[in-house]
Amino acid sequence: MDLGIAGRTALVCASSKGLGLACATALAREGVAVTMTARGGELLEAAARAIGEQTGATIRTVVGDITTVEGRALALAACPQPDILVTNAGGPKPGDFREWSREDWIAAIDANMLTPIALIKATVDGMMARGFGRIVNITSGAVKAPIDILGLSNGARSGLTGFVAGLARTTVARNVTINNLLPGPFETERLLTTAAASARASGKSVDQILAERRAANPAGRFGHPDEFGAACAWLCSAHAGFVTGQNLLMDGGAYPGTF
Ligand code: NAP
Repeated sequence: MDLGIAGRTALVCASSKGLGLACATALAREGVAVTMTARGGELLEAAARAIGEQTGATIRTVVGDITTVEGRALALAACPQPDILVTNAGGPKPGDFREWSREDWIAAIDANMLTPIALIKATVDGMMARGFGRIVNITSGAVKAPIDILGLSNGARSGLTGFVAGLARTTVARNVTINNLLPGPFETERLLTTAAASARASGKSVDQILAERRAANPAGRFGHPDEFGAACAWLCSAHAGFVTGQNLLMDGGAYPGTF
């Protein structure tokens, strides 16, 4: 299917690896000019070069922390009027809520709630004025089914989800949609970090935790980042203008609810 977005511009945050990288790659394959960001420049440049060579798309890079005012200003200076915005940042640390300080909570809310909102605020009115916009927030399956050791993520991302639910209904008449993509377990570095924390807490090995998690998933495996990128590209497509305010869970069927 031609997604109808060739020639569009996208800002894909936190995209030197993992799910952000997969989204940037999938959009570039559709002929979108992509601006990628990350804090580490070396990996980001290598990723951008690889995508550019693979797809022939124009790729820009911005080194900076997207959770800071300065980092966002740099990203928006490089891509001031994106047609497509994919918000993403590292997930908060796992642990026990008894150990988290007010600063830990503020950092999580900053990264996983206020940063996406600030980026949306900076771009959504331009999208509405131009009559096209696609915003996808990478959140987490934890929004639907909380994960015990990820309380900071459960809390902060639920705040973003509630905010987006309201805003998404006010932009769609101008062909600007806002949706959330909720990853379950995808094979990325982040997954290994959370598995290592579970291993420490349970006394099991990381391999054992990973094997148990694979076996416990109805799909019998983890998701592949390419699958995530493809879903993101579709949500950003010309065909998805009637889809807004949705939370698309990609978890191999792990969430057991009917709705
Ligand atoms: P990942 O493999 O660790 O990749 C994270 C990417 O984000 C890297 O490119 C990293 O580069 C960049 N990044 C992190 N913090 C940043 C910041 N403050 N500013 C700019 N760039 C930043 O993680 P992932 O698995 O793709 O996860 C992406 C998001 O999905 C996270 O919020 C994670 O919690 C969530 N999630 C993932 C899963 C999963 O199974 N993978 C499941 C549920 C939720 P630098 O370090 O160089 O900045």
